[in-house]
Amino acid sequence: MPDHVSQPRLLLRRLHSVMGGDGSAQERLDRVVRVIAQNMVAEVCSVYLARAGSVLELFATEGLKEEAVHRTRLQVGEGLVGLVAERGLPLNLSEAPKHPRFVYRPETGEDIYHSYLGVPILRNGKVSGVLVVQNVTPRLYSPEEVEALQTISMVLAELVSSGELINVNELSEDSVELGHSITLNGLSLASGIAAGAAVFTKPKIRITKTIADDVEEERARLETSLGQMRLQLEEMLEHPDFAQGGEHREVLETYRLFAYDRGWQDKMREAIDSGLTAEAAVERVQQENRARMAKIRDHYLRERIQDFEDLAGRLIRIIQGETVNAPTKLTQDSVLVARTVGPAELMEFDRQYLKAVVLEEGSSTAHVTIIARAMGIPVMGQIPNLVSHVETGDEIVVDTAHNHVYVRPNDEVLQGYREAVKVQEQLFAEYAAERDLPAETLDGERVELLMNAGLLADLPSLDTTGAEGIGLFRTEFQFMVSPALPRVDEQTKVYSAVLDAAGDKPVVFRTLDIGGDKPVPFLPREHEENPAMGWRAIRVALERPALLRYQLRALLYAAAGRNLNVMFPMIAEVAELKKCKAILQKEIQRLEKFGKIPPKEIKVGCMFEVPSLSWQLDSLLEEVDFLSIGTNDLLQFFFACDRSNPKLADRYDMLAPSVLSFLRMIISACHAADVPVTVCGEMGGRAVEAMALVALGLRKISVSPSSVGTVKRLLRSVDMNQLRAFLVEHIQSPEHSVRDSLLLFARDHNIKV
Ligand code: PEP
Ligand code: MG
Repeated sequence: MPDHVSQPRLLLRRLHSVMGGDGSAQERLDRVVRVIAQNMVAEVCSVYLARAGSVLELFATEGLKEEAVHRTRLQVGEGLVGLVAERGLPLNLSEAPKHPRFVYRPETGEDIYHSYLGVPILRNGKVSGVLVVQNVTPRLYSPEEVEALQTISMVLAELVSSGELINVNELSEDSVELGHSITLNGLSLASGIAAGAAVFTKPKIRITKTIADDVEEERARLETSLGQMRLQLEEMLEHPDFAQGGEHREVLETYRLFAYDRGWQDKMREAIDSGLTAEAAVERVQQENRARMAKIRDHYLRERIQDFEDLAGRLIRIIQGETVNAPTKLTQDSVLVARTVGPAELMEFDRQYLKAVVLEEGSSTAHVTIIARAMGIPVMGQIPNLVSHVETGDEIVVDTAHNHVYVRPNDEVLQGYREAVKVQEQLFAEYAAERDLPAETLDGERVELLMNAGLLADLPSLDTTGAEGIGLFRTEFQFMVSPALPRVDEQTKVYSAVLDAAGDKPVVFRTLDIGGDKPVPFLPREHEENPAMGWRAIRVALERPALLRYQLRALLYAAAGRNLNVMFPMIAEVAELKKCKAILQKEIQRLEKFGKIPPKEIKVGCMFEVPSLSWQLDSLLEEVDFLSIGTNDLLQFFFACDRSNPKLADRYDMLAPSVLSFLRMIISACHAADVPVTVCGEMGGRAVEAMALVALGLRKISVSPSSVGTVKRLLRSVDMNQLRAFLVEHIQSPEHSVRDSLLLFARDHNIKV
């Protein structure tokens, strides 16, 4: 084993004393590369530093030709050095010249070296250079050697950030033109429109001391700080906003579990034993986590690693003496701008002034999104290079309806924003005034208007929107945020809370629709060519019946003495539904056997999302108490058109005559069999579409809470007889869509679309 692996502390000390020794910074760097080469038993050790314009310049070398120093320059992304800088990750090769990105620079004479290990020199999370060792003999460097070189690069970062080698301001940072107005596109993760001044998460931590003087002392600093950090988290969890149960509570508890993670603590302790200070040890382990994160494609796991990022930052701050768990003070309406933030970090912001969150990363199931939703804050994510476009205090307008973030908006945008807010407020006032009015057409046809929900945070909308019940409760959310399968009592708690909140209003629970694009951490994920048509929903549940059994058990417990409506998703044939019903029946018998209070009444339904059911409609309708048409999935299968492919978003129209004929057939069959039918896909929440659906005979619609007001207003302005006659005329049309005709009809008849 090479010397440095057994003696890491000695090497770090030696480097530190060389760096702090006599001579110019260049002379010291020359000595540093010699020491590293010697200790790593490498024939070459080189340091490249990033200069303005994303250029990496060879600053010092032991082993390559002298004349290449300050002459060899590579762009970020060019050659192996450029690749390390681009990815911010180590590169370990036994045959460097054979790598497709290898670029030979004759002035270096490096063609004779086969093995290659390059690691980034990271400063404040950015790559400020690359450290390379090379050997003639082809071999892969061991994991210990890779780790050792990474630790060395942390120490080197200290010398770089001193500014002696290179003007720190010159260090390559993509030059971004700040100051003028720009519009960025992103993905709406939690909807709303908001504006405020840009604020960032706490400034990046600076680690000024990397080498420990006294290992025992550093160990003690780490342990004390870990204790303090846990205390802070416990206090945060006590906050009245989060005390109540729900998925955000689970997120926080999972997060707290991470703070006690043994593996994480052990790694930090090991890093201290190798000679680092406590804060450098935390950062070192975090660098490893980041490198691992970059390789992970599973977004759920990537988000969990983000929780560690949040914890690590918090821990370093405590180690560096920041003892108070001070909320970030805001004095005006603000928009939080970040690459990504952790859930706890978000909660530290002043609730009164935090109006929106915009992120470079983020996803709808990220912990921070769930927390933001619970706080009622709009979130936009997936905005590349966001952070480099914004400065503290910049005015920001977030408009999730159009997926736009306006940075330093011009007067026109601001004016538009103010008007949009005014319109929104006015609309909300109108909707609120109509809250208790029935969804009834001008000629007295009554429609039952329900809402979709999936979070406990959605439940207050039942009251504010005046929705008549929950037509679709998506149960998968609790499962998606839990590290392990939620226990029956945990599930029961959530379902009880839903039923409590709904009171006398009906609730339809849909059993788990997981798998496919809704991954859960406790089930293995395999790559699927077509996840939407893959191992998901009821297909998972029938293969793993315990999942479904426990969920049904929890639903039965929660509904003791009350009504229970349960439906199964993605049913493709009647036989599947029968299997689900048999499992439910067994659970009902079990309930009786144990003398538990059964629900007052149980109704069983089925989602209509797979076209194959059309050819078994009669027997299907004999098996169910109600049917719910999930147009989101149904139409993607109907048109063979991926619902999440943006390239196809406008290819087919939900108002195509073929769709309307198809839906009319299903709705009519339900009416003939006297089986209540609902549409619970997004289609029902869109004004013109809702108009078409009621004209087809639909009398129950379940829409997202934000659409309840729109749909009710529309229905109250429609003369159903006229509309029905009009649509019947158009449904056989060979056109692409009846949308334009319907819009014209609406305009001519003062329908509020
Ligand atoms: C649907 O497919 O229309 C539906 C309501 O289910 P989800 O959107 O949850 O797949
Ligand atoms: Mg669906």
